Amino acid sequence: MSGNISFDALKSQVSEGTVDTVLVCLVDMQGRLAGKRFHAQNFIDHSWEETHCCNYLLATDLEMATPEGYASSSWETGYGDYVMKPDMDTLRTVPWLEGTVMVLCDVLDHHTHKEVSHSPRAVLKKQITRLADLGFAAKMATELEFFLFEKSFDEIRKEGFRDLEPISGYNEDYHILQTTKEEHVMRPLRNHLFAAGLPIENSKGEAETGQEELNIRYDVAMNCADFHTIAKHATKEVAWQQGHAASFLPKWHHDKVGSSSHVHQSLWNMDGSSAFYDADDDLAMSDTMKHYLAGLIKYAPDYTYFLAPYINSYKRFSKGTFAPTKTVWSVDNRTAGFRLCGANTKGVRVECRIGGSDLNPYLALAVQLAAGIQGLEEKLELQAPTKGDVYEQSGVSEIPRSLRAATETLRNSKFLRAALGDDVVDHYTRAAEWEQEEFDRVVTDYEVARGFERA
Ligand code: ADP
Repeated sequence: MSGNISFDALKSQVSEGTVDTVLVCLVDMQGRLAGKRFHAQNFIDHSWEETHCCNYLLATDLEMATPEGYASSSWETGYGDYVMKPDMDTLRTVPWLEGTVMVLCDVLDHHTHKEVSHSPRAVLKKQITRLADLGFAAKMATELEFFLFEKSFDEIRKEGFRDLEPISGYNEDYHILQTTKEEHVMRPLRNHLFAAGLPIENSKGEAETGQEELNIRYDVAMNCADFHTIAKHATKEVAWQQGHAASFLPKWHHDKVGSSSHVHQSLWNMDGSSAFYDADDDLAMSDTMKHYLAGLIKYAPDYTYFLAPYINSYKRFSKGTFAPTKTVWSVDNRTAGFRLCGANTKGVRVECRIGGSDLNPYLALAVQLAAGIQGLEEKLELQAPTKGDVYEQSGVSEIPRSLRAATETLRNSKFLRAALGDDVVDHYTRAAEWEQEEFDRVVTDYEVARGFERA
């Protein structure tokens, strides 16, 4: 259960008049909340059982376009409905909005009531079940990095996204003085999320002007993804309440460091002991951990799309910025794609550093679990860790360096087709193609400025 309030408690709060609004939300392909605001009385009388939405919500893009080429939804089939089925275990207060609670929904086929396979929560559930069948539960944590800007989203949009000013004038990595100046956003954010049932650990300044990071305590995979989605949403809303914009675009300026979402992961046995820990190993890594990590590394090119789903995502992967490009592992070394954390302790785990702040956590966690499972099933051997500055190493396998390349590895991935299903891989391959097609169609400011006079 990731929520913090029972249905009975909600009913009491509605009759007392302290709650009047229920946000009924699904998670879309982009990892955003989409749905409706219900009057609380209607929700507790009727809609808690199910409500409906247009099925294009899981076949659209950031701008709510209706791209052709999806098998699931189209103009031809009339863009019918999906059922939104509230998962009452996710019912939680939304302390940053007055009188409001929220519930996350599973997405079901309107006719068969079967879960829609490409729905992000369904994609993750499938891998959690596969892992449970092997006798393990995953505990995961995603770090959320983002930039705060002086102005609001609306002001920035009206000004054409030009002359963007981050909230601070200097690199604020671990900076207490500068982050004090951001407490009007970050303190309510931490406290509201904590009150909403999210185990917030801390926030900190990050290594660029205006960059913040929010950390949430690790939890089982589905809770981790729910927490990430709600925290990202809340970050934008709380920043908006304070007159600022919070952006999760991975690379908002080519001269600035980008924003990541590192994923920490460990496997646990059903008796609650760590399946990654082996006191007799040099680094305390069990064979299970070694096979899992070897799978993560081997299949990283196949699943990179899910860690970097847009054109802009690939601009983040640049040397000397802490954003990795090589699929190797290392012991506590931030230049490698995979970093061993907590070596020689019961908290031994792996951090995947490839993902950007724009990833959809359900999909990102699902494909990493799938790769780890594949490593376990193949009993893959883990190579020795790399040392030194991995950016400078040659002859080392790399992740795809563009959306176009990542789309091809996704399309041709036999491993992902077997793990997720052909329909899911085809669906997200189409999403990736569409991002590329749109970018290829549009003339950018860069091209005009470069060539208008001089070409
Ligand atoms: P960093 O040095 O990267 O900041 P932290 O010690 O702050 O590392 O931990 C980062 C994240 O890892 C936190 O969100 C924490 O909850 C999570 N974490 C800690 N232990 C584990 C574990 N065993 N499995 C998965 N995640 C973990």
